[in-house]
Amino acid sequence: MLRPSDGKEAKNIAFIQCAGSRDKNHLAHCSRICCMASLKQTNYVQEKFGDDGKSTIYYIDMRAIDRFDDFYQNVQNNPNVSFIKSKVAKIEEDKTSGNPVLHGVDTEGYKRYANPHDLVVLATGMEPSVDFKGFPIKILVNDEGFIEHDDSNGGIFAAGVASDALDVNRAVQHATAAALRAVQVVNQVAGA
Ligand code: SF4
Repeated sequence: MLRPSDGKEAKNIAFIQCAGSRDKNHLAHCSRICCMASLKQTNYVQEKFGDDGKSTIYYIDMRAIDRFDDFYQNVQNNPNVSFIKSKVAKIEEDKTSGNPVLHGVDTEGYKRYANPHDLVVLATGMEPSVDFKGFPIKILVNDEGFIEHDDSNGGIFAAGVASDALDVNRAVQHATAAALRAVQVVNQVAGA
């Protein structure tokens, strides 16, 4: 794990959650996967460096949903992983070491911090990338770019990550529900 700027081994890594997400000026939605992705990556730091590897997660609130809560608790019990409840206000470079220094306020205790790390990882959000302009049918798309149900186009609806930012479990549930609904519709039409 090397720092791209100068190739230094990155043993002390900061993860910034909701980087641009849950922010009405950028991405309003929660992407639902990036908390788990960062928690998983703290395991990689641990596997690579053992007790020399330190991870710090800066977060608003952690969203480890459903059965992933056990995984979250395991990471919380790791003494080499710290959690700081805070939106990072600023990142400056330490000119001597080249380290990024994170500034902000820890909202649990309202303490100011200026924490140096070797590397900062931003948990950026999911955005739809489909260009709907070329679609042969009219699609209703919300402000975030996800497809909304629309009776005026024959009731076309989207499933999975076309309809919202979802983790794999929920995307599979959506797809299964959509397939079942399609089977029902086909059976109804055939019966009529
Ligand atoms: S899943 Fe992503 S957007 Fe949602 S709370 Fe976690 S880091 Fe923020």
